[in-house]
Amino acid sequence: MRLYGGIEAGGTKFNCIVAAGPDQVIAETRVPTTTPEETLSRVTAWFQACQHPLAAVGIGSFGPVDPNPSSPTFGYITSTPKLSWQNTDLAGAVRRALNVPVAFDTDVNAAAFGEYCWGAARGLDTFLYITVGTGIGGGGMVAGRRLHGLLHPEMGHVRVPHDWQADPFPGVCPFHGDCIEGLASGPALQARWGQDPATLPPNHPAWELEARYLALALVNYVCVLSPQRIILGGGVMTNDFLFPRIRQEVQQLLNSYIVHPALLEQIDNYIVPPGLGERSGVLGAVALAQELVSAI
Ligand code: ZN
Repeated sequence: MRLYGGIEAGGTKFNCIVAAGPDQVIAETRVPTTTPEETLSRVTAWFQACQHPLAAVGIGSFGPVDPNPSSPTFGYITSTPKLSWQNTDLAGAVRRALNVPVAFDTDVNAAAFGEYCWGAARGLDTFLYITVGTGIGGGGMVAGRRLHGLLHPEMGHVRVPHDWQADPFPGVCPFHGDCIEGLASGPALQARWGQDPATLPPNHPAWELEARYLALALVNYVCVLSPQRIILGGGVMTNDFLFPRIRQEVQQLLNSYIVHPALLEQIDNYIVPPGLGERSGVLGAVALAQELVSAI
């Protein structure tokens, strides 16, 4: 059995795994995100201590990142608001320490790829994976290829209508204020309501507003990319009562304009939680590593 390393590099923790796939997980750990030097030395030391020969390591990272393999800064975290991580050669540090080929993409593209290989996007070629947690981000595939471009999409920073009278909260995005991440991420919920979102009960008005904002963003993505499915993951979406509310809001906003059963009677199967649960990102990183080896 060929083994791969997977790293989901997040702003608060690095999830690491040694696996051949979702049903063959050999070892798993979490390392808190501190400085780049400390975090990366603990991550690579853990893989070395596992003593399993790895065919490759995949990384899905928070960003912004450089995901272009032909760029001199491929595998770098670039202009992140986490200042100590700016211009960090993440892929290079792992490659040098473990002496293995390294595959690299955004955290959300990795999660999307994991869902494509083993989860809720099997059999699809155009779909999105959106995370709603500490931040909001989106990745996915179009016509069977992971979404890149100039750099990579920044779906968390789109603008949505913001009724300042109904919701005077200015938003928390340091770059834009009231982009969708600024209005609807976990830290936005915390700042608007003054309490940990995990303590807000399902009947709190916070969730009606949250479902509305997320539906507004989703409708934009549906209109631009025509995805066959949208997977919603991340900490905020573990509140599963949000799903029916978001589906209903999306249908109201689209107003039967896009005529397809997926957006009408089959919407429960269109806006869905991840098939891999909380492991989409780290298993997606394993899938990136597998893909790299099969391409060599
Ligand atoms: Zn923003």
